[in-house]
Amino acid sequence: MTEIITRVEDESVYRAQLSGKKIAVIGYGNQGRSQALNMRDSGLDVIVGNPRDSYLKTATEDGFQVKGISEAVAESDIIFYLIPDEVQKDVFDNQIAPNLKKGSTVVFASGYNYFYGYIKPDDDIDVIMIAPRMIGWGLRDMYLKDQGFPVLAAVGSDHTGKALETMTGLCIALGVLKKSGSIVMSSFKEETLLDLLTEQSWAGSILYTFRAYYEVVTELGCSPEAAILEMYASGELAEIADSMKNIGLFRQLRTHSHTSQYGQLTRGQEYIGEATKELMRKNAGKILDGTFAREWTNEQQTGQVVLNRTMQEAKSHPMEAAEHKLYKILQRGE
Ligand code: NDP
Repeated sequence: MTEIITRVEDESVYRAQLSGKKIAVIGYGNQGRSQALNMRDSGLDVIVGNPRDSYLKTATEDGFQVKGISEAVAESDIIFYLIPDEVQKDVFDNQIAPNLKKGSTVVFASGYNYFYGYIKPDDDIDVIMIAPRMIGWGLRDMYLKDQGFPVLAAVGSDHTGKALETMTGLCIALGVLKKSGSIVMSSFKEETLLDLLTEQSWAGSILYTFRAYYEVVTELGCSPEAAILEMYASGELAEIADSMKNIGLFRQLRTHSHTSQYGQLTRGQEYIGEATKELMRKNAGKILDGTFAREWTNEQQTGQVVLNRTMQEAKSHPMEAAEHKLYKILQRGE
């Protein structure tokens, strides 16, 4: 079984590993801000490396010393690399790699660039991954409530022989091991597969399942507003997801009526057969052999034509206008 760490015997051992080390958080967005604040509140010496205006202002207002990326890297021992995955390679090659000190540590929050070899730190650098299973603001919120959260973690390269201790110490400083949190020992490969296949299977198909449901029930005379409330706008879905988290996927069914349980268990299966699993296997294969990553790189280099087209197509569906009208009445949305 995978090693899952929920507590350590003596935190001081790991804190000692970080003593006197300076940490540069590169990027002050979703993850960067929360991770920087959590580590500073845990007593670490944190500076921020950020290029442009928008996030720089927030970091300065939060009381951080903000520097250019090259400068921040040059004066730090541990680099948290928290800018979007798709821009990481260029910034790493041009601003980070030339300024890394021998024996320093690079921390990724996703496996993507290291697994595919887009980013290859020199052999004298420790490489670790701390990939939160939590959106940025959630990670800060949990820290302030004294609650932990799960991360997938791994050591990619251990030049110093201390990478595991550094990783564990940083997880403690981030608040991972507060109440109910866990470090799940993983790998860059596993994190990449799990993350991308989630997006490319169940998460993506939920969107199109909802749209198909909308089309069918409105064909049958149901109102668009009632259909959208039924699926997600009521918040019931969020409650169910919470129950799944707290008591389990099928065990949460006990909070539904018997009619609902019978319908879900007998009809739910009809939609998912061997063909769906075969499609998942096919997409998993394309993730693991790098086909998807090459497709995505090409898509970015050619102006994101497919992304823009599919987004436009989603936005021009009648369900989008109906949702907009409903959310206006409910006083929600942007
Ligand atoms: P964000 O999109 O929030 O990152 C924004 C930050 O990146 C800003 O500081 C921005 O600076 C900087 N940035 C954007 N483009 C560039 C560029 N071309 N050059 C230099 N800096 C740039 O990223 P996330 O926090 O969402 O993701 C960071 C990492 O965390 C990724 O590896 C991601 O996979 C991982 N992750 C994200 C999760 C999430 O909840 N979002 C969950 C788990 C992991 P500026 O002020 O100049 O715009």
